[in-house]
Amino acid sequence: MRATAGDGAGLWGKRAARPAPLASAARAGTVSAVTSASTLSVPEPGPATARRLLVWYDRHKRAMPWRATSGRTEPYKVWLSEVMLQQTTVAAVGPYFERFTARWPTVEALAGADDAAVMEAWAGLGYYARARNLLKCARAVAEAGGRFPATEAELRALPGIGAYTAAAVAAIAFDEPAPVVDGNVERVVARLVALERPPKAEMARVRGLVEAMVPEGRPGDFAQAMMDLGATICTPRNPLCALCPLNADCRAAAAGNPLDYPRKMPKKARAAWFGTVYAPFRPDGAALFRVRPAKGLLGAMPELFGTPWAPVAPDPAPHAPFAAPWRAAGAISHGFTHAELTLDVMKAEVAAGTEAPAGAYWRLPEEAGLPTLMAKAVRRALAADD
Ligand code: SF4
Repeated sequence: MRATAGDGAGLWGKRAARPAPLASAARAGTVSAVTSASTLSVPEPGPATARRLLVWYDRHKRAMPWRATSGRTEPYKVWLSEVMLQQTTVAAVGPYFERFTARWPTVEALAGADDAAVMEAWAGLGYYARARNLLKCARAVAEAGGRFPATEAELRALPGIGAYTAAAVAAIAFDEPAPVVDGNVERVVARLVALERPPKAEMARVRGLVEAMVPEGRPGDFAQAMMDLGATICTPRNPLCALCPLNADCRAAAAGNPLDYPRKMPKKARAAWFGTVYAPFRPDGAALFRVRPAKGLLGAMPELFGTPWAPVAPDPAPHAPFAAPWRAAGAISHGFTHAELTLDVMKAEVAAGTEAPAGAYWRLPEEAGLPTLMAKAVRRALAADD
C-alpha cells in the first residue's frame, strides 16, 4: 500500500516528547528495551521520511565507480555492479568493476566475450554461477537489440536477474518506483518500525513499507539513499542514531534498542565437507590444473586435481593425477553458503618434462585465474616448505 502525501511533516511533528537518541549507549551494547518499541506512537514511515532521507543523500551520497555524478547511471553499469555486489563488499567490487568496464564497455561487448576470459576476469569474486548468468543475460540483451528493458517485470524475465536486481536496475537506471530491498534496507526498515520478526519472514511487509516511502520523481535516488544509509549510518553493530536523518521516524531509536533489530532467523547448521587436492610443481613454478564441470559449485573454473568433496573424507589415492613423491602440506578451510569445506593439500616437485594427463594443463598459478579456494590451496602448498 502506498502512503499519500498527507502523512507528511504534520504527523511527524506530533512527537515532541520522544526520548533523545541513545546511540552511544546502544553502541556500547548496554541498552535494553527501555520502552516497548512497538507501543510507541511513532507513525510508520512514508513520503516525509523519504524527503528527509533525500536531503541527507544529496549531501552525503557515496562516490562509487558505477554511480553517475549527475543524472541516471546507465543500465549496463547498474546491472553489472549489482550482480557483482551480491555477497561481496563495495571495496572488493570496485577494481573488478573498473576492469570489466574498461575491457567490455557495453553490454554488447560483454556478450561477445569469450566465456573463459569472463570467468578469468571474475576469478576471486566468488559465486561463479553469477558470472555464467552474467554472460547469459548480456547475450539475451544483445540479441534483443542491446538495450535493457526498463521495467522491473521485463528485467525479471532476463536470465540470472532476481527480484532484487530487477528492482534495483528499474529504480536506479529507469526511475521506476520499484521497492529495492537488500540487506541494508531490510535492517533500516526493521529498525524504523521495530519489526518483531526477521525481515526475511516478513518480506511482503518490508517491501510494502519501502513502497510506501518511494518518492515521486526520485525512486532511483531513494533506493541508493536507503542503501547508503544502511551502509554508513544504520550499520549492523554501530548505528549512528544521533547523526541519522531518520532518527525522528525510528521506533527502535525511540525505544533505545536499535541493536535488537533486525530479529535473527534461527541458524541452520552448515554441512561439513572434506577432500584432498594435489599440487604438483614443475621447476619453472607451473602447477597442474584442470577445469571443473560447467555446472555446480565453482563451475567451469580451474582447479587442482583432487577428490570429490564429501561429508566423510574420500580415499585420496585414486584421485592423484600421477604417481609422485607426494607429501602433506597442511589443510585449508573454505566456507560456502551451505557448507564448510576442509581440504588436505598434497604437494610434490616433479620433473620439467612431466606430461599433463588428458584435459589438464600446466600453468603458473598467478596466471591461472584461480577461484579463491584453489588460490588458497596453492598458497598452502607453496608455504609448506617455508
Ligand atoms: S534508522 Fe537511524 S535512528 Fe533508526 S536505528 Fe538506524 S541509525 Fe538509528
